[in-house]
Amino acid sequence: ATPTAVMVASGKGASQGVLIKGGDALEKAHKVKTIVFDKTGTLTVGKPSVVSAVLFSNFPMEEVCDMATATELNSEHPIAKAVVEHAKRLRQKFGLNTEHVADVKEFEVHPGTGVSGKVGHRTVLVGNKRLMHAYDVPVGPNVEAYISENEQLAQTCVLVAIDGEVAGAFSVTDPVKPEAKLVVSFLRSMGISSIMVTGDNLSTATAVAKEVGIDTVFAETDPVGKADKIKELQMKGMNVAMVGDGVNDSPALVAADVGMAIGAGTDIAIEAADIVLIKSNLEDVVTAIDLSRKTMSRIR
Ligand code: ADP
Ligand code: MG
Repeated sequence: ATPTAVMVASGKGASQGVLIKGGDALEKAHKVKTIVFDKTGTLTVGKPSVVSAVLFSNFPMEEVCDMATATELNSEHPIAKAVVEHAKRLRQKFGLNTEHVADVKEFEVHPGTGVSGKVGHRTVLVGNKRLMHAYDVPVGPNVEAYISENEQLAQTCVLVAIDGEVAGAFSVTDPVKPEAKLVVSFLRSMGISSIMVTGDNLSTATAVAKEVGIDTVFAETDPVGKADKIKELQMKGMNVAMVGDGVNDSPALVAADVGMAIGAGTDIAIEAADIVLIKSNLEDVVTAIDLSRKTMSRIR
């Protein structure tokens, strides 16, 4: 595209809340045939909340909540915020103090699986089954049953292990964005197929994908795995766009022919992307592609 055409299109995009960072992205976007969407915070609202809680050992719920809060307070993950919020509400409900939170030592983030730390003399893990496996914490049949039951409802289970045993679990739900389904079907009518990629487990991811009309799901992928998926698709000769919001999406945003970041996402994702959807509305994925198609057809 000529510099003038790029300038005009960028101006038009900006007025509609689509920030295009250069002519290259604009040119590539019209050739895109596949769009890979991250799940959490991209297809979903990104504000999960706890919808159920259970106990699996003799630790009382209050203690499980306190241990989970102390550990999750150090995490930026939306699931962590949901757990902390839930625990706080529970304490308020029982008229307990919500100010004092125990200190955590040896806090560690395990990207894609959860967090760990020491609360007092106890070792605490908060995360998914893979985190439990990594620490050799047994996941019994009753825990498995709770997990599969809730995952089928598009919920994500958060397990809390205290001193090597699963003491309790929370199930969180993160609603899909109201426009997500329409955007996926509209893209299909434009000849573009949609794929989901997520660090979350396969059953939850599949349930969410079904809700928005996506058939292809790549689950339990870490940040590098997300980028590898993009490269795999490119190797098949496809022009691929990636839409994401998180730090964990950055390598994939860079690898994609066109990286699109959700405006409400993390700064790192916004920096890694070629196009920023300022309003965080998925309809602007269509706006961006459409703008590119129109600009490029006017030139040729
Ligand atoms: P996504 O790709 O969907 O944005 P992530 O890669 O951030 O997901 O996380 C993948 C999974 O790891 C989550 O679904 C959750 O099970 C687990 N997880 C990650 N961070 C945390 C945390 N702070 N607390 C509990 N679970 C976590
Ligand atoms: Mg995300």
